[in-house]
Amino acid sequence: MAIEGLGRDFCLVCGADPPLYGDRMCEPCVRKRIKLVQVPENIPWVRCARCGIVEIQGKWVHISEEEIWDELIQRHVQFHKNAEDVGLALETRTVSDRHTLLHLQVEGVIEDLLFQEEHTMRARMANGVCLTCTRRAGNYFEATVQLRSTGRRLSEEEFTVLRQTLDKVIEDLSDDPMFFITSEGPVTGGYDVVLGSKGLARTWGRHLVSEYGGHVAESNSTVGRKDGIDVTRLTLLYRKPGYDLGDVLRWRDKYWRPATWTKDGAIMSRIDRQERTGATWRDLESSNVVSQMKDHVVADIINEDSSVAEFLDPTSWNMAEVRVAWDHVPRQKLRLARIDGDWLALHKLGCDEEDGRKSI
Ligand SMILES: [Zn+2]
Ligand SMILES: [Zn+2]
Repeated sequence: MAIEGLGRDFCLVCGADPPLYGDRMCEPCVRKRIKLVQVPENIPWVRCARCGIVEIQGKWVHISEEEIWDELIQRHVQFHKNAEDVGLALETRTVSDRHTLLHLQVEGVIEDLLFQEEHTMRARMANGVCLTCTRRAGNYFEATVQLRSTGRRLSEEEFTVLRQTLDKVIEDLSDDPMFFITSEGPVTGGYDVVLGSKGLARTWGRHLVSEYGGHVAESNSTVGRKDGIDVTRLTLLYRKPGYDLGDVLRWRDKYWRPATWTKDGAIMSRIDRQERTGATWRDLESSNVVSQMKDHVVADIINEDSSVAEFLDPTSWNMAEVRVAWDHVPRQKLRLARIDGDWLALHKLGCDEEDGRKSI
């Protein structure tokens, strides 16, 4: 046995020989005193009983189950402050609707010693009701968006497509608890959507205008006072143009074709004589679509004089006559619209070229 000399190192706790770690302790003594992680036995979390979203530190968020466990581990599993090279493996076991066991395998290095531990925590779910569901249950709303059209009544399908854009807008926005739909449904001549947020209504309105043209009219009504402030409701009336470039519209008692779009409407080109004028979406609210591009007929001329052309009427296969358009060039094909049982020859527009219609 060696003689104990001054300056010889030994464990401060048990007197064992080196190697020593940290505050001069042998490995068994270090391991007895240091835990790699502190893990609580039970950890509570809250899920909305109505819609299933989860409360994370006072905020309601849409997250997956794996993300919930990650979040709980991050918040509740405390690694030793000197731990390095830490690793964590998780296995979960569902015990019941509300209880899930989280088995953790952790490792890390403290004072050059590798620690490996296993722990189990129980995640306990409690039911709550999120802000959105609370407001929804109270039929809370701030805004109504009215989808309508000008020029032509839209089909149910067209309204469905317009309505679907709201889902996309909500998806692209942040998780605001007020971004919900209170109620919705078809009404005469359109579709109404009642929303929890004015901001959402306006964002959707802008989206509709940029995607489909047309314009939004905004009005506010005061429904009461709360804490000395007027409580207002917003109504957004969106009118989608029911016409496309090249369609025939009755507008201001004449027939016109929208020739090109402008920032806030269209350049309208008159059919019975050479005339162009700019019109805003609002100006065009009084217009009616009488013949869409898809219903036009392109026909060969059989006989013509300076003002009238004869062609084969595709609806009866008899010869028919039509007054030629103001820009007519002899022997050129006719573009025809059928309006109230009569044929109308149309002047040319740039969009006619792109129209792949077969001529007869
Ligand atoms: Zn010791
Ligand atoms: Zn909810």
